[in-house]
Amino acid sequence: MPRRATKRGAERTPLRRDCDVLICGASFAGLAVARELAGSGADVLLIDRYEIGERQTSACGIPTKWLTALGLEEALQQTFAELVIHAPRAQVRYDLPWTFSTFDYRTLCGLLAEQGSFAFETAKVDGRTGLIVHTDRGDVSAPLVVDALGWRRILGRGENIQPPDALLSRGLEVHPFGSGREMEIWIDRSYVPAGYGWSFPAGEELRIGVGSFDPRFHVREPTVRLAEDLEAETVRYQGNWIPHALRDATEDGVFFVGDSAGHCLPLTAEGIRTALYFGLACGRELRKVVAGGQTREQALARYHAFSASHARPFRWMLRVQRLIPRIPPRALGASLHAIDRRRFIHWAFNRYLDIAHPDFAGAGPRATVATVSVAA
Ligand SMILES: Cc1cc2nc3c(=O)[nH]c(=O)nc-3n(C[C@H](O)[C@H](O)[C@H](O)COP(=O)(O)OP(=O)(O)OC[C@H]3O[C@@H](n4cnc5c(N)ncnc54)[C@H](O)[C@@H]3O)c2cc1C
Repeated sequence: MPRRATKRGAERTPLRRDCDVLICGASFAGLAVARELAGSGADVLLIDRYEIGERQTSACGIPTKWLTALGLEEALQQTFAELVIHAPRAQVRYDLPWTFSTFDYRTLCGLLAEQGSFAFETAKVDGRTGLIVHTDRGDVSAPLVVDALGWRRILGRGENIQPPDALLSRGLEVHPFGSGREMEIWIDRSYVPAGYGWSFPAGEELRIGVGSFDPRFHVREPTVRLAEDLEAETVRYQGNWIPHALRDATEDGVFFVGDSAGHCLPLTAEGIRTALYFGLACGRELRKVVAGGQTREQALARYHAFSASHARPFRWMLRVQRLIPRIPPRALGASLHAIDRRRFIHWAFNRYLDIAHPDFAGAGPRATVATVSVAA
């Protein structure tokens, strides 16, 4: 077991304080919220059980435009203009209308953190009473509380539905040293009946894994098998549950962002850019409250509606997620070849990018502040 950086022993001093905005969870979603509050004058406290960037939570693949839109290029490791899909009787190579990149998690989190201005504490969040958040170091309260804690939705109301009954997928990957040039996907029932396998090269390592849309299906054995089939070592495991259904983005006065709100896209399990996207949206609403431009209740209603307005594409992707495993392997290969037309692929991938488009990154008040200060 790796020893994660966090406060231990005597360093774990009591934490009892108020703040204007309390953001729980310092990964993609939480850091994006904090970024949008920079320069707002708010007393922002960000808490996570580990130091920022300490525990990688994904294969770290994202449309490259999101890295450039947020000024995170320094974290980029490798870029892909094509997607290679392996199916039992087919192998297709789709030319993408935009590139996809892998990045270094620690570097990206560090860069995002630099764009915010907040106090940071390591503490484990256990729950809340009203807007008082209980941590293993004490209670923290704020009028604006954000749950960016991932799929557990720890600040949700009442008992959470746990796997395997929750609408969750599961994913596991290994990170062997090695190199590759292709971003590859396996849609193959010999690995997983409903789901897919992947290999994402990232500089000097490969991220090889298997995700199952059915939470009851165990992915360790197929992950090992896929890595062995690719002659890669089965080392440095990373895995988690992955939500595949939108949930209410506000509840009891709390804002939920990223996996805690089910913002990870069904079918592809792409949850980084959506965590960033909804994080920016939430941060912008909170910023308006801090500036006195709207009430907390208005921010809750507006952010809730913004998240819910994306229900349609999420529903469609969930339908396709449920459909693909039902297609017989022979027909699947034929279908993959049939859609291999440049115009169609570009149209489909552009619609897919539109769900959480990188242009959104430059559209907020923070972008205006940055432009003004540079110009001055
Ligand atoms: C194997 C795998 C591979 C994936 N690959 C990709 C990919 O390549 N591209 C992509 O877009 N998506 C990918 N995903 C999905 C993606 O990882 C998530 O959707 C994304 O991380 C969600 O971001 P988040 O900030 O909402 O939550 P998380 O990244 O899960 O962050 C939650 C944060 O909260 C902290 N935390 C949790 N509980 C507590 C607590 N009790 N107290 C204090 N802190 C706590 C954690 O330490 C963490 O920092 C993958 C998922 C898995 C499982």
